[in-house]
Amino acid sequence: MTGPLVRVEELTKHFPITSGVIFDRVVGAVRAVDGVSFEIQKGETLGLVGESGCGKTTVGRTLLGLYPATSGRSIIDNLSVHESTGAELMQIRRKAQMIFQDPYASLNPRWTVNAIISEPLRVHKLLASQKERDDRVKELLELVGLNVRHMNRFPHEFSGGQRQRIGIARALASDPLFIVCDEPISALDVSIQAQVVNLLEKLQDHLGLTYLFVAHDLSMVRHICDRVAVMYLGVMVETAERDELYEKPRHPYTQALLSAVPLPDPRKERARQRTILVGDVPSPINPPSGCRFHPRCPIAVDRCKTEVPKWREVAPGHYTACHLVTE
Ligand code: SF4
Repeated sequence: MTGPLVRVEELTKHFPITSGVIFDRVVGAVRAVDGVSFEIQKGETLGLVGESGCGKTTVGRTLLGLYPATSGRSIIDNLSVHESTGAELMQIRRKAQMIFQDPYASLNPRWTVNAIISEPLRVHKLLASQKERDDRVKELLELVGLNVRHMNRFPHEFSGGQRQRIGIARALASDPLFIVCDEPISALDVSIQAQVVNLLEKLQDHLGLTYLFVAHDLSMVRHICDRVAVMYLGVMVETAERDELYEKPRHPYTQALLSAVPLPDPRKERARQRTILVGDVPSPINPPSGCRFHPRCPIAVDRCKTEVPKWREVAPGHYTACHLVTE
């Protein structure tokens, strides 16, 4: 295949706000995602970061077709997600999977591990006999580091980290090419977060997977991602190769986010200047005019209040949307 495995073009997702006795009157919209575009190459991990509520989870869900798009589109392995139906849609569902933030809420508590992991095999009619499906479940359990003798247990009998491994095994069952990892470690104990990240890296090497890694832990994103995209209030503000973004962040919002990440070297940590963001993230129901970041930006000028900054390449492969960033 040539070209990127995943292409997201001007993807927009607004959630209508309704009113009236039977909620039939649309009175506004939560503009969760507004015209987001990016690409992910085969085998690459793109990190999608930003504060809570910036729309990054909605991007992941909408690009997979779990939410209908308000406008724009996503293309996975040359198939247009929101325009596909029937066999093509099933093909996308098989090729693109999701690992959820809360491993417990995403697993059916009444089903055994075997039933949970083999569900995609049944849905996609991938293996005909029960014996073949059982063998595949055992193979997947081994792949994610779980004991095959536990396949007839229920989710509540496992720890948080083990449950996330069950979720990962389920995502792998249909042999996907692309996985959206939606904050896969943020609900886990710090002591096991690294284990799950290491497992995701190992699986990527072993199976040639492509990831969109949605997260707010910027240290972990630096560890696992090849490229990083930063969102603020429903829009993309910066994207670059990982080291370029962490070492030379250009957008004031990215600079503020990174200045809050602790440095391992105590001398560097003491010496550096922090950018403290003032105020809260504005409401996505009525986002600020011009640059959405202007009410909190420490270097905003008048123009920022009225003019939407253009998305520009400011260094090779490094894009940002800010009036004041020069090449
Ligand atoms: Fe700040 Fe203006 Fe740049 Fe927006 S466009 S980030 S408000 S300087």
